[in-house]
Amino acid sequence: MTRIAIVDNEKLKDAQQKLHIQSICPVNRTGKECIKIIDDKLTIDEHLCTGCGICPKAAPNAIKIINLPEELKTNPIHRYGENKFVIYSLPTPAFGRVTGILGVNGIGKSTAIKILASVLKPNLGNWERHEIDYDELISFFKGTEAQGFFEKVKKEEIKIAYKPQQVDLIPKTTKGKVIDLLKKVDEKGELKKIANELQLNEILNNDISEISGGELQRVAIAATVLKNANLYIFDEPTSYLDIKQRINISKFIKSLINENNAVLAVEHDLIILDYIADFVHLMYGKEDAYGIVSGIKPVRNGVNVYLSGYIKEENVRFRDSTIRFAEKPPIKKKHIKEVITSWNAVEKKLGNFALKAHKGAVHKNEIIGILGENGIGKTTFVKILAGALKQDDGEITHKVKVSYKPQYLEVSDALVVDVLKTAFNKYENQIVNPLGLQQLSLNKLSELSGGELQRVAIAHCLQQDADLYLLDEPSAYLDSEQRLILSKIVRDFVEQKDASALIVDHDLLFVDYISDKLIVFEGKPAVEGMITGPFEMEDGMNKFLKELGITVRRDPETNRPRVNKLDSRLDREQKESGKYYYT
Ligand code: SF4
Repeated sequence: MTRIAIVDNEKLKDAQQKLHIQSICPVNRTGKECIKIIDDKLTIDEHLCTGCGICPKAAPNAIKIINLPEELKTNPIHRYGENKFVIYSLPTPAFGRVTGILGVNGIGKSTAIKILASVLKPNLGNWERHEIDYDELISFFKGTEAQGFFEKVKKEEIKIAYKPQQVDLIPKTTKGKVIDLLKKVDEKGELKKIANELQLNEILNNDISEISGGELQRVAIAATVLKNANLYIFDEPTSYLDIKQRINISKFIKSLINENNAVLAVEHDLIILDYIADFVHLMYGKEDAYGIVSGIKPVRNGVNVYLSGYIKEENVRFRDSTIRFAEKPPIKKKHIKEVITSWNAVEKKLGNFALKAHKGAVHKNEIIGILGENGIGKTTFVKILAGALKQDDGEITHKVKVSYKPQYLEVSDALVVDVLKTAFNKYENQIVNPLGLQQLSLNKLSELSGGELQRVAIAHCLQQDADLYLLDEPSAYLDSEQRLILSKIVRDFVEQKDASALIVDHDLLFVDYISDKLIVFEGKPAVEGMITGPFEMEDGMNKFLKELGITVRRDPETNRPRVNKLDSRLDREQKESGKYYYT
């Protein structure tokens, strides 16, 4: 097959629209049945379709016709149905290693994991059959590493424990106290030890419905590792966690590895993926249409190939441009640009929590990254600057108009096109197209996935006329590709409008890539928060990384930041010289 057709019948308006689409297909006009309508369902025969592009133009939200790469010689592993998503290969876990998976959203990472975890039985592209048995699967993979893997699965030598991606769905299906949930799955009798390591003791007696996203994530990880398994699969183990927690979870996941087990992890935070994994598979293809898994690569090489956008061995280009990081942190410059907002000795009390901000200012055309733990007052400070919350003491100069994207996104039944009227009218090239919002235009906000809703919320913030844009955790739910695209959008937008931006985020690589300067939050979560900066990048990162106890070096090929192994030669040298941040 050279091309595939993806049809979402739910997005086709009515019978009349379907008949119209059928009538305009040039193949149908010759008397053949390329587009069929049976029981009100429109289907496309992929063997007859010539890829003329007429029907996707008539229904861009509902129909995609995609030419497959010429190099793709393999048959599918699984297809969800006629004209539905198809996956062509699988990642292969290896014993004694952490294997990472890197790829955009909607490319089949969760499908691949479900197949490996035996949650989904693959149909080898034949969706009319319910499922195939392991012998067929083993013979399909003959001669590859996956053959050995499925042989072990068949002999029941592999026991899998799987942490799903969407931990926020757990309270919808599981009720009761955290401790009761963990007791139920504790096959190893290690509840006490794991609860200690994952700092869960304080919430063990809380109800699952009452704990935060970050706590839910750690409970889900604990529930996974308490199972007696030899393949642990973690789908996005660090979402909702702050940087300190991300590093702790990474160390914890690495510590699980021994020669008798394997770990597979999907992760969008590139610094964390680089830190956790020994090897990676890249996944590419077309979102919501098809996915292909690359051969396995050592993690450094894999992340660099990903940034380059081109897999040489497979002759596949999945991005037009290469992503490179600056060789040096931004040069310290004296500010001749206008101060657009400033603060001095600001104090705010919220219950038992106290927030203090020393002296600081934001200048025109600056992007300032904000780093700090969860619960340390970042959102409160952003709200004070936005004028949504009044400080108890101190001074804020509000000479500016502020547009604010909150951390948690509100859902309603409004249509995307109505919420983003200004963006669709004025910023098609700057915001709508690069954020891929065109195809969501007729969706209700309540129908969107987390990543789609995030992109709408970012566009909603940027479309306002403002001098200062405050984006609170814009990378949450976005894949690594979207995070890098977002950096460029914000940078270009801020420059063009001669505005400024404050970015609160936990993805260190994203913050490093987007920021000119840094504000650092210190203190004790839920007790006190102290705001220092803005600092030059080098000074801010040094301060923040010292607090975390990690050092970061620069990759010689891409200049991207990489976390040094604790106590390695570089780690010790950098700590001794006080250079925690790569220079
Ligand atoms: Fe027909 Fe294929 Fe052209 Fe669509 S893309 S109109 S199905 S030939």
